[in-house]
Amino acid sequence: MIIEKAEGVLEKYALCNHCLGRLFAGLGKGDNEKRGVAIRFVLNMEREARGLKPFEEPEECALCMSIFERIGEVVDLVIQKAREVEFESFLVGSRFPEEILEKEKRITGEFGLKHWESVNREFNREVGKRVEQALKKPVDKHNPDIVFIVDPYAMKIELQVKPLFIYGRYRKLVRGIPQTPFKGYRESVASIICRPFSRATGGRCIFHGAGREDIDVRMLGNGRPFILEIKSPRKRKINLDEISEKINRSGKVEVLDIRFSTREEMESILTANHRKIYEAIVYVEEGVDERDVRKVERTLTGALIQQKTPVRVLKRRADIIRERRVYLAEGKLIDKNHFRLKLLTDGGLYIKELISGDGGRTVPSVSSILGKRTWCEALDVLEILDSDEPQAYFWVKTL
Ligand SMILES: [Zn+2]
Repeated sequence: MIIEKAEGVLEKYALCNHCLGRLFAGLGKGDNEKRGVAIRFVLNMEREARGLKPFEEPEECALCMSIFERIGEVVDLVIQKAREVEFESFLVGSRFPEEILEKEKRITGEFGLKHWESVNREFNREVGKRVEQALKKPVDKHNPDIVFIVDPYAMKIELQVKPLFIYGRYRKLVRGIPQTPFKGYRESVASIICRPFSRATGGRCIFHGAGREDIDVRMLGNGRPFILEIKSPRKRKINLDEISEKINRSGKVEVLDIRFSTREEMESILTANHRKIYEAIVYVEEGVDERDVRKVERTLTGALIQQKTPVRVLKRRADIIRERRVYLAEGKLIDKNHFRLKLLTDGGLYIKELISGDGGRTVPSVSSILGKRTWCEALDVLEILDSDEPQAYFWVKTL
């Protein structure tokens, strides 16, 4: 059957050994070229017995245009390209002209072939094997650091580099720095953290924070989780401790727990709704006393807050009503107009508005509880809790 079919194909199409063997790729062992040589050898013996002319391998293959003869050139090109980046594993892909892939389908359909393999698969594998040997680095089909996309007919090559993901938590030690670049501000948490990473990797660093605090709010305690996504890194083996130290020397932003991460982890961290502990300095225009502070504690602890989108962010956010819970509230009088207020709340609750009431858009609020005008004078995020941690554990009486 194989020999008969091969004879039929070769009568019509002058194929190279790679393309001949590949028509029966699913049968027997070894590579397609060896398979092609063997089939041709047996077929030609039979033809000789029948007094027919043998089918020699053609100068130019009618299917692949003898592209496999140029495999050495392609491998050299890949090796040259590989010098541009640092990687541990790779994969070879290719762009083959549509007419070659179409022709292959036509031939296999015409002769009812069932065990064939496509030309680009064989080509990629053969290039991959040789590059593996030359560079002593493995092909990884599932999660390679880099992918070489070759166009063997144009002798062009394109490099796709897997992004690097880095997890960390940041503390913002001073007020007056936006989380991400903002007009009127020279630097941001993102720029301070990203700069040394861009330098070390030669890639483009994108900062993803798990939520954000306002420009005038400090981020303290265990810090806010973030993920850096570094696109097209030239270097992957970077010293995270050294980079952390550089950032921490800024005196404005500190990073903790820096480690390599994955896209999957990025997604789960950025969508988690982290509970938070805040500390605010509350100003009460008409004056405040111990009884007021106790009333705020009593009313807010356990309260479900209805919060319409604050007026100050209405331009950027949809006008909706959020329901968020305050789990614990604890106050301490400072002077006749100020008290300190510590809160454990759901993520996504706007604290400045929880205090001021935002003209009745947040209910209840410190303002509505006291029936007095109140503002948040200063705010710090003390802790960001990982959502599965028991809330009470983090509530330390420090006021
Ligand atoms: Zn061929």
